[in-house]
Amino acid sequence: MTSRLATQFAKVFGHPPVSAARAPGRIEFIGNHTDYNGGPVLGAAINRSVWAAAAPSPNGLLNFSSEGHPPVSVDPNAPAKLSGPASWANYPLGVWLQLPKFGLRQPAAFDLHVASDLPPGLGLSSSAAIELATALALAALSGASASRETFVKLARAAENEFVGMPCGILDQGCSGFGKKDHLVHIDCRLPAFSNIPLPAGVRLWMFNPHAKHALTDGFYAARHAECQQAAAALNVPFLANASPDQLEAAAYSLPEIPLKRARHVIGEIARVRQVCDALARGDLSETGRLLTASHRSSQHLFENSIPELDNLVDLLAAHPGVLGARLSGGGFGGSVMALTTAAFTLKQAEQIAFAHHQKFHVFPDFLPLQADAGAELLPL
Ligand code: ADP
Ligand code: MG
Repeated sequence: MTSRLATQFAKVFGHPPVSAARAPGRIEFIGNHTDYNGGPVLGAAINRSVWAAAAPSPNGLLNFSSEGHPPVSVDPNAPAKLSGPASWANYPLGVWLQLPKFGLRQPAAFDLHVASDLPPGLGLSSSAAIELATALALAALSGASASRETFVKLARAAENEFVGMPCGILDQGCSGFGKKDHLVHIDCRLPAFSNIPLPAGVRLWMFNPHAKHALTDGFYAARHAECQQAAAALNVPFLANASPDQLEAAAYSLPEIPLKRARHVIGEIARVRQVCDALARGDLSETGRLLTASHRSSQHLFENSIPELDNLVDLLAAHPGVLGARLSGGGFGGSVMALTTAAFTLKQAEQIAFAHHQKFHVFPDFLPLQADAGAELLPL
């Protein structure tokens, strides 16, 4: 991909790139909406990525190009949030704006070209991937380097502060700290990142039912606000600070909706810890059981699932080759992740897709994935 990226760059800008980087997408393994509540989350960087190549620009502007997206140029003296078809460039522009806040020199003017093999719509966090690939490539232009953690925080700040998406650190953390055949464990409050091995012989799959709830706009922010409301009622800074017992003791004082959201988040935090323990002792059936329990909690308590995701989980969970299945990512659309044994193959995945089609008359896409390495600078 690096040579294709460099060729594309030269075709678009008429000169070769000076730096290049790759950052992977991610799956959320377990820990649904725990990140911004100060809890732990387990994810994985995957073997699908976004690549970015960069060079100083001779025209004094910030020039953004990406396959399948309109080119965008921004005056570095008047950077403003973009809208409409140009809005994709808010992600790399937001990264450029954050560089000095993290002690990294901003290139005064640059050309940036982006390529990707991350399929859109599967909820694989292409936004974090484009942010991290951009951050590494732009920092390298001025010869600057920083820790992995700094790049992760910078990328998240770009998404929170410039794009305006109040995401936690899961997406950027997994993209930054991925490791082949390992999960990424993030203690989101510190934050602290570590890798834990995935047992040999398991497989990861994503199923996308191509269904989106009609009212997705603002749902993430609404859930975020409901969690904050519950934490305030419990008198804790984050829901992660409250134990299940504390929550139940105070249940009478919480309105119904924040109570349900808090039950999901606090239960989910316990499940993340239980999955870590189960994986450490190689207990795959318990790991799978907890994954499916996470989905049921999303379905009934956090109410961020939709019937199409529930149906895929029902079909997958009933399959003998599947250890567990759950919605992965923000919810209200997106995809279902399944952890399977090696006995679950493309043929079995097709059967699940076919059964789903019989009910919803739409064929889900599916994709086998591998846990893979995190973001990296690439030699040109
Ligand atoms: P996710 O992060 O789950 O993929 P988001 O809505 O957070 O979904 O981010 C997707 C957005 O990121 C796209 O709509 C687009 O604006 C931007 N994006 C992702 N990949 C690319 C790419 N290769 N080129 C240009 N923009 C991209
Ligand atoms: Mg995203």
